[in-house]
Amino acid sequence: MREAESTPRVLVVDDDRMTQMLLRRNLTQAGYEVESASDGHEALTKLRAAPFDLVILDFMMPGMDGYEVLGHINADEATKHVPVVVVSGVDDRANAALLVEAGAADYLTKPVDGGLLRARAARCIESKRLRERELRLLEEVSTSYAKLREAEAMRDQLTHMIVHDLRTPLTSLLGSLKLLSSGKVPPDGQPQLLELARETGESLNEMVNELLDLHRLESGVDLIKPQSVEVSRVARAALDKVRGLADARGVPLKLEAANAEARLDESKVERVLINLLGNAIKVSGRGREVSVHVHVDEHETRLEVIDAGPGIPEADRSKIFERFYRGAHSELPSTGLGLAFCKLAVETHGGKIWVDSQVGEGSRFVVSLPR
Ligand code: ADP
Repeated sequence: MREAESTPRVLVVDDDRMTQMLLRRNLTQAGYEVESASDGHEALTKLRAAPFDLVILDFMMPGMDGYEVLGHINADEATKHVPVVVVSGVDDRANAALLVEAGAADYLTKPVDGGLLRARAARCIESKRLRERELRLLEEVSTSYAKLREAEAMRDQLTHMIVHDLRTPLTSLLGSLKLLSSGKVPPDGQPQLLELARETGESLNEMVNELLDLHRLESGVDLIKPQSVEVSRVARAALDKVRGLADARGVPLKLEAANAEARLDESKVERVLINLLGNAIKVSGRGREVSVHVHVDEHETRLEVIDAGPGIPEADRSKIFERFYRGAHSELPSTGLGLAFCKLAVETHGGKIWVDSQVGEGSRFVVSLPR
């Protein structure tokens, strides 16, 4: 679709050179960009090659007559919206009327009156552009509507998932507490039950945090605030936060980091690492190491979280960063939001996140942030 502000382009189709020249001059003086064609074939070739806003079409032409040309214009998706004003001799008025019935926008009789020509051209072009503006608006409205519906569906899905996912650990937590308060649990069984209740409470807390993190970043409440920080300190802080989980599962943690400063939002990057580490620890078996590598050079700050877990099937690799996507190794309770948060947080920094993985050997999540 052409821009509404551009100079309207008119194609004059007439086998008579004199008429062609007169029409051309008249329309050029009115401020239009005019091209001409001497027969139907040339006209159709020009119409297909570049966009026009109006065709002034002689009815009586040797070879293809106006009726046929109009038929071709109307049959082609690319040209059917270009208005056609038919020019006929006085004796051809009946035919001109037929052409209007067949879709021509208007007609003029020869000898063409200059004032009338300009008035009709202006009206046809204006209504074509009005129609284009309407179409553009309609397109914008339907795109917004589709986006709104999508967001609505996403919210419904989210509500459904939250309710579903929170219920299981909540039921288990309440069950443990009920048992404890019933007085039926012998003293030596109580610490174990309490520990189970604490763990369940923690995973509930983690799920709520993931939801809040993503929501705050998406809604723009929480903006990225980069500051100059010591990157290995951020990695160490993240490792400290997941140490309890790693110890409980017998997963050794390792850090390889040079001392270097980088500009980043410390708390967001820490949460990104916590998410990646949490996933890596959960999929790793006892005794399998999870490590964090930090490289900083003049172009980027690169953080890698490496595990020797089950790996991620190729088909899953592009999907795991989508919201709510839970792959083969998701461990309940889970939201499928952790990696979506990581992606958003990294991209808001102007960086990139991806995964290299080999099924059966492990995964390496890479976060690359510009310096
Ligand atoms: P969640 O962990 O809540 O399911 P995430 O967005 O953090 O959601 O992860 C999405 C999916 O990616 C997980 O369900 C899991 O299948 C897969 N995944 C993430 N990290 C790893 C990993 N280190 N190894 C194997 N699979 C992983």
